[in-house]
Amino acid sequence: MKLSKRVGLLLFYATITVSIIISSIYIFIYNKLSESSVEIIINYKIIFIIILFLTVISNALIYNFINKKIIKRLKDTEDIIEKAIDKGLSEEIKNNNPKEQDEISNLTDEITNITDKLINTENYLEKETNNYSNLLNIMSNSFIHLKAIVDEEGNYIDGIVIDINYAASAFFCQEREKIINKKFSELYEEYNIDKENIVSVLKRINRTKSECITKELNIIGDKWGVISIYSLNEGYFSIIINDITDIKKHSEELTYLANYDTLTNLLNRYNLFEYLIKLIKNEEEFSIYFIDIDDFKNINDTLGHNTGDEVLRIVADKLLSLKYTFNMDSINKITVGRLGGDEFLVVKKGKDSIREIKNLANEIQRILYEEFEIENNTFNLKASIGISSYPADGDNVFTLIKYADISMYRSKEEGGNKNKVFSEEMLEEINMQSSLSSAIENKEFEVYFQPIYDVTKEKIVGAEALTRWNKEEGIISPAKYIPLAKKTGDIIKLDEFVLEEACKCCNEMYKLGEDEFKVSINISYAAIKQNNFIEKLVKIITKEKINPKSIKLEITEDEIIDNIDFTVGILNKIRNLGFQIALDDFGVGYSSFNYIKILPLDTLKIDRSLLKSLENDRKTLSIIETLINLSHTLGLNVVCEGVEISSQLELLRKINCDSIQGFYISKPIDFNSFKYFIIDFNNIERSE
Ligand code: C2E
Ligand code: MG
Ligand code: MG
Repeated sequence: MKLSKRVGLLLFYATITVSIIISSIYIFIYNKLSESSVEIIINYKIIFIIILFLTVISNALIYNFINKKIIKRLKDTEDIIEKAIDKGLSEEIKNNNPKEQDEISNLTDEITNITDKLINTENYLEKETNNYSNLLNIMSNSFIHLKAIVDEEGNYIDGIVIDINYAASAFFCQEREKIINKKFSELYEEYNIDKENIVSVLKRINRTKSECITKELNIIGDKWGVISIYSLNEGYFSIIINDITDIKKHSEELTYLANYDTLTNLLNRYNLFEYLIKLIKNEEEFSIYFIDIDDFKNINDTLGHNTGDEVLRIVADKLLSLKYTFNMDSINKITVGRLGGDEFLVVKKGKDSIREIKNLANEIQRILYEEFEIENNTFNLKASIGISSYPADGDNVFTLIKYADISMYRSKEEGGNKNKVFSEEMLEEINMQSSLSSAIENKEFEVYFQPIYDVTKEKIVGAEALTRWNKEEGIISPAKYIPLAKKTGDIIKLDEFVLEEACKCCNEMYKLGEDEFKVSINISYAAIKQNNFIEKLVKIITKEKINPKSIKLEITEDEIIDNIDFTVGILNKIRNLGFQIALDDFGVGYSSFNYIKILPLDTLKIDRSLLKSLENDRKTLSIIETLINLSHTLGLNVVCEGVEISSQLELLRKINCDSIQGFYISKPIDFNSFKYFIIDFNNIERSE
């Protein structure tokens, strides 16, 4: 029963009881009064009845007052509390709170306050719990809260899952309810999580101190996560798994892109270099085969880039097949990569002999040549290969690749489809090539003169101007730098320089009275084909006041062969100006009689290679004799080169050779020496 009801009833009974007691007292007194005199009795009885009446009335009023003032308000307060508790609203209490400040109001206020606080705390807790689970659930990281399982020493060895968030149930692909109450060990056994690593992290946890240990682990299958284990209050810990599978995949893709060639899946330049650096660090011997597909540009240009790409993929497969070509050993010994474009690199570990290197290079060429088809187009690829070896050719990757590249270019220069092993000479050439141009400007070249002896007149009638390169390390032979100068185009400048020096020589000869003296200069096709070659020629001899007939231009067959008509045209013009023309080195190469016929020539120079076997070989003598006779018929005079001994001269004299040039008379010598030589030889009277 409510307190207000109980108080109400108590009050009611008390009022009734008081009324009855007072009434009884009055009735008793009233009865006592009836024995007294009549008037007094009558007066007192009336007073008693009035007092009794007033007493009952006052009792009723007191009851009413108490009921109204206390019990009803008590009931109101009770109702308010009840309602407030039901609704959980403290406002209700405040709104209905009676205004009067008395003890009951104070009591009510206090109760209201306490209730308020309780409700607030309850609301706060409920809100916080909601916030906490919302927060956990919106977290993209998996959260698992566990009660620790400890070993005898008190180390955490496992845990029982007491809460997880959505992300965790998604991560494990299981509903929350199925994971709750599971042992963590059951999870990592079920999901093949790296148990050892997790247990080792758990053991490291300080039970008494809150801390976090983080580790990157392969969690489930190909899923990766950064696991952070937090120890909280003793006996509990939480695990947060940050799913880094995508990041890991992405970074693996990036690593792949950084290390592999996306078109062929071979190692790329970066990875190849890393691999070679590692081999060098381990002092493992190896050879690298720098492969460039011949005419690949043509495939791209004519069949399109898609076909080009497909060809490169097939090349990659072919090169990879080398791993299985020789023996099981080659699987580990051979590594293939793509440097870019149509350039591939094969690395073969081990110290190989030249024969073994050549074998592999030939095998590469063979497999590349093996026929294949792409969209009805048949391919037989050819490749140029350059090879360098560690440690023989260099001790660092860049040098080794550069040398293999140089050798590969050498193969290309020789027409492609070849393989070349790097040699020091190649390097020498490269260095020479790069310093050639500046050497001409720096006047490092000097012109030597080799006398030409007239067999009939028995005197020196001319000389061949031959260049020498004076380098710090000594004189370099033209056989080394002339082919390079032709390749780089520097030969044009060199030939001009020789022409100027030849003119100076002629002037000196004029001074010695040798007006018929002729200086032969070797002129390259590159110089002749210049648009302004004739102007230059004329300009130089005019400046030096030289008669054109004193200059003989030597041309070689192999240089003019492709442009014979043009050469005939220009030589005619030059010859018409009074210059003389000689065909040099006849007897090597084509040695076509046709050229002797069609070229506007004055002289035929028979190469010294023909003279080598002159004495013991009657056939050679007959050939030279025929050549001399033919030349004479065509109005040409003949110079035989490379005469080293007197018997050669005597034989040549017998077959009517006009002139000779060779060590028998003199080696090429510098101009001053030549000047004294001719004065001596021709018995020229010195003016000084
Ligand atoms: P070449 O025009 O046939 O010159 C003759 C070469 O034979 C010279 O070699 C000369 O030293 C060599 N020789 C002459 N007599 C003998 C002999 O009796 N025995 C032997 N073993 N060799 C002899 P060199 O000076 O080394 O010149 C080689 C070639 O270089 C020349 O062959 C010429 O084609 C070219 N050359 C030299 N200087 C120039 C130049 O300034 N311009 C151009 N375009 N070519 C040049
Ligand atoms: Mg010559
Ligand atoms: Mg010659």
